[in-house]
Amino acid sequence: MDKLTQEFTSLVSIDQFQERYQDNIGDGKYFGFPLEPIIKAEKRLLSSAEEKKIAYFSMEYGLATSFYNKFSSKLPLSPNNQMPENAVFSNSRVTDYFFALHANNIIDLPIYSGGLGVLAGDTVKTIADYKLPVVGIGILWNSGYFRQKFWYKYGQAPEKMQWDPSSYPGLIPLTTKVKISLKPEDVTLRLWKYYVYSHEHDYAIPLILLDSNLPENSSRARILTDQLYKSDNVWLKLLQRVILGFGGIAALNTLGYKIDLYHLNEGHAVFSFVDKARGLSAQEIEGLKKQFVYTCHTPVEAGHDKFSFENLNRVLKKEDVDVIEKFGSQGHDVANLTLLAMNISASTNAVSHNHQKVMHVQFPSYRDQISYVTNGVHSHTWISDNFKELFSKYPEQLPDVRNNPMILAKASSLNSNADFRKDLWLAHQANKDNFCRILEKWKLNKDVFTICWARRVAAYKRPSLILQDIDRLVKIAKEIGPMQIILAGKAHPNDNLGFTYINEMLDKVDRLNNNYDLLKIIVLENYDIFMGKILTSSVDVWLNNPLPPFEASGTSGMKAVLNGVLQMSTVDGWIAEATARKIGRFFGYQNAEGSVGNEMDLRMIEDSAKLYTALEEMVGLYYKTNNAGQVDYRSYWIDMMIECLCVGGEFNTYRMLDQYKKSVWKIS
Ligand SMILES: *Cc1c(COP(=O)(O)O)cnc(C)c1O
Repeated sequence: MDKLTQEFTSLVSIDQFQERYQDNIGDGKYFGFPLEPIIKAEKRLLSSAEEKKIAYFSMEYGLATSFYNKFSSKLPLSPNNQMPENAVFSNSRVTDYFFALHANNIIDLPIYSGGLGVLAGDTVKTIADYKLPVVGIGILWNSGYFRQKFWYKYGQAPEKMQWDPSSYPGLIPLTTKVKISLKPEDVTLRLWKYYVYSHEHDYAIPLILLDSNLPENSSRARILTDQLYKSDNVWLKLLQRVILGFGGIAALNTLGYKIDLYHLNEGHAVFSFVDKARGLSAQEIEGLKKQFVYTCHTPVEAGHDKFSFENLNRVLKKEDVDVIEKFGSQGHDVANLTLLAMNISASTNAVSHNHQKVMHVQFPSYRDQISYVTNGVHSHTWISDNFKELFSKYPEQLPDVRNNPMILAKASSLNSNADFRKDLWLAHQANKDNFCRILEKWKLNKDVFTICWARRVAAYKRPSLILQDIDRLVKIAKEIGPMQIILAGKAHPNDNLGFTYINEMLDKVDRLNNNYDLLKIIVLENYDIFMGKILTSSVDVWLNNPLPPFEASGTSGMKAVLNGVLQMSTVDGWIAEATARKIGRFFGYQNAEGSVGNEMDLRMIEDSAKLYTALEEMVGLYYKTNNAGQVDYRSYWIDMMIECLCVGGEFNTYRMLDQYKKSVWKIS
């Protein structure tokens, strides 16, 4: 064994190294990436040097490992780690019947469900780019989230997904295990590690993933880390959170990381505080609170976990429940993890300015401590290759977007540059053409107006708003111009309302079977990060129509603007900070300042009418710009595309992390 490998394996002891991993780790390489940055990062986290070392806790991570910093492996790709074939449900049902989509690629590390995970993944990647001493804590979900299948006349059928962690490139099991002490039984957790590299491959953040699927655990303990957000019973839901908190702290202790600050990405992770508080005096607990910071990600009721003390007492020891009772009680019988997190943290932040206002209404007595840091997206992950190439063609006006995406704010200086306007359009068309090829059998056309709604199917996001009145849609297509509408998203398996939406969407698409020449509606199965990257960079308009004020931030639109894709959106989340910018059309109901309203009152009729009016304008403008391939490069549409890029200079994770460093972590 060479010296570097020896040093690495002495810092990180890998289970079954000889049998499984030695072909991929050695000669200075870690699955094709340099080994040295890992050693550097590990040593830094283990040292007691005077710099603030941070543990970032999140229930989910969406790292886009299938296309960003993709590891190579000398082991053959396990069929279980290969992307599955996905069906398409369109209003050309015959085509759907004969064809499906293949992506000959590895699956993304399946430990995320949606936006929260992608945000955590983008955050950790940016931390690596900034070379900060941070370790991530998460869970190894043995069956991922779930795989979505569409069934004709039925809707979404969730299927269990199978994958193979032990041959997933870059993922290694450690010999170290930790035990957490619960009633009635202890649970042993295996630790896995994954390394999140910087884009220059000169630094890496270790991500520790906890796994209860071990033969020494009881069968009911083994399934705790099976499926992300599986909430069939309160026991599972509670124990998943306990594992993240208790298991995370136990892992940090066992591995010897010297942590000064704990970042709770959502209240899910708050049991880490309960673990740290064990055995401390009241005064020591006050000191401990200075080491915790908390980010809240949603105003939606279901996002704020509550557990009865009766249930907490069933699994936790009395002294742990006492801490929860002291800091997280909501009335007599119930603990609220959001209140607990706010009470034990030195800082609480919302994820957009709008969300801060909502939190101020929801938690008036915490008003003074709730700040906000608007979310962002990781530019290296989300800017398409065609756009990276475009930016590099204009080094004078856009120097080094690669290292500093904030430079994109200067794209407006290119507004009067005729070459740039044309190159921008062509880069977009190249992306769109690629997308049309993927759906070749469905005869998509790159000169037809294309709009997309794709995200988690949750009621407040109003997935079927654009399909509310299909006669009106047909009328717009006939009178103003043809349209291609792309829809995708998973509903949580226990979300009956979400299920109903998908059913309704498929049913309406089916009813438009006779209009395929003018109006193509494509519903894609099994929406994931890989598909998200293609969609956010390829369509003409990104549709976002949540019911205000329930979208705390939203991030998919940020991915789109980085690729010059226009926005059609209600005024909610991050968009409320960009409404003065000419990046598309904003429409729909807005809640009155100082009130939150009712998340069940979806206002479908009134807001769909406003959506259609906005759509008419956008379609009209599109065909003035692109008349069957004849392009008017002076068009206002292209002004808006350029303005999108400028906005992308702001809503990225570099700006976001600068704010976390300064006002939350206080390290710069
Ligand atoms: C970015 C992303 C999301 C978040 O979308 P929102 O617009 O914030 O709802 C969800 N899922 C995937 C796969 C994504 O890539």
